Amino acid sequence: MAKPSPSLMDKIVSLCKRRGFVFQASEIYGGMGNTYDYGPLGVELKRRIKEAWWNRTVTGRSDVVGLDSAILQSPRVWEVSGHVGGFSDPMVDCKQCKGRFRADKLEDARCLEKPSKRPGECSGELTEPREFNLMFQTHVGPVAETGNVVYLRPETAQGIFLNFLNVMNAARTKPPFGIAQIGKSFRNEITPGNFVFRMLEFEQAEMEFFVPPDDGMKWYEYWKQARFDWYVDLGVRPEKLRMREHSAKELAHYAEATSDVEYEYPFGWGELEGVAYRTDFDLRRHSEGSGTDLLYFDPQTKERYTPHVVEPAGGVDRMALTFMIDAYEEEELEKDTRVVLHFHPEIAPTTVAVFPLVKKDGMPERARELEAELRLARLTTFYDEKGAIGRRYRRQDEVGTPWCVTVDGDTLKEDVVTVRDRDSMQQVRVPTQELRAWIENSIRGWKRQPRSVVG
Ligand code: ATP
Repeated sequence: MAKPSPSLMDKIVSLCKRRGFVFQASEIYGGMGNTYDYGPLGVELKRRIKEAWWNRTVTGRSDVVGLDSAILQSPRVWEVSGHVGGFSDPMVDCKQCKGRFRADKLEDARCLEKPSKRPGECSGELTEPREFNLMFQTHVGPVAETGNVVYLRPETAQGIFLNFLNVMNAARTKPPFGIAQIGKSFRNEITPGNFVFRMLEFEQAEMEFFVPPDDGMKWYEYWKQARFDWYVDLGVRPEKLRMREHSAKELAHYAEATSDVEYEYPFGWGELEGVAYRTDFDLRRHSEGSGTDLLYFDPQTKERYTPHVVEPAGGVDRMALTFMIDAYEEEELEKDTRVVLHFHPEIAPTTVAVFPLVKKDGMPERARELEAELRLARLTTFYDEKGAIGRRYRRQDEVGTPWCVTVDGDTLKEDVVTVRDRDSMQQVRVPTQELRAWIENSIRGWKRQPRSVVG
């Protein structure tokens, strides 16, 4: 196993800020722990990841439909789901530095006064672990009273269970079928977060797949493989991914089986996505809690049953971080080193950059025209005329733009452009009329290249 590089994370954080992927939230006020803002390129990266997920999970299939449920739901939902009583982490406090740390993650934590030491290794004494609920509370209405408490959802899944009947009836579907949604979730995380890996406010992409009870394990195996494959298909190196089955001790009370898709981050292996076989736990609990039977009735067999559920639940921010880390390379060239993000073209924030070779002779005008045509074809584009062409290539390599198109003297005479490939750095001449089709074919045909230096 390659030795994890401690400085790779720092390089990613710095690249993210410099090039506008991710900023510290409230930075001008000194920043806020575990919260981040996405800049122009980060927002584009996330948007494209969500689109790729939605295309694969919803629109690319005939048995999954979408939903966008509210963040605020009746507080009863979280009582019945078990979140009010049980969604907590064991926390310890340091009596000296007053830091609060997750008792099960002390190895990742640092003493507030002596960052070279872990809590408990310094002179401070730690309290006994206490349960700390992860849900954020707020109040509806002008007065904060106990009767009007609401919670910011800590997962999007419950909104799906609440709408099980609505969706099944409206979409005229029946098990096996899935309901998917992407949306914000909130958790009062105390542990320092490894950048966007762990945040207070994050986006989840979750799908609840409802199946006949006897088919639960079959679909669990199916979704484990399908979710693992999605990351590999989008360019993540398979040797950096693994599927880890939870031991019986680790399993959540509602789950019959759970596996995590894990990635080898610079700080060690960590969960990227969980796939859980939740049995009929959630629908049964909400049937009991609400008094509404959340059942499927089969008109042919006259059978009535509570479907079982298999849930792939991923975090979009962790996906974005993983794609960035995995794509990052410092490639040694003859004379220097280039930083390049080898994003799959489907998720690269910019697909094509368009340059005039020089800022004269009508080249900027022709380049802008070409850029507008590609934009009209719904490709994400970027126009740049500043600096030497080599510098422009490097700027695009660093943000993972797969192709740079240069308009030169020949373009004006013969209508041909030079297309430079990010990964191989090879250049080819392409007639302008064929440019759009050439790019679309290249997106489809893209393959991950072996790297010289890996992150
Ligand atoms: P962890 O053990 O890392 O806290 P979890 O097991 O609590 O994660 P789940 O409840 O299974 O996470 O949530 C599904 C997915 O949501 C996770 O795999 C992760 O990608 C994402 N996620 C969960 N918590 C956070 C967070 N605080 N910040 C960013 N993403 C998160």
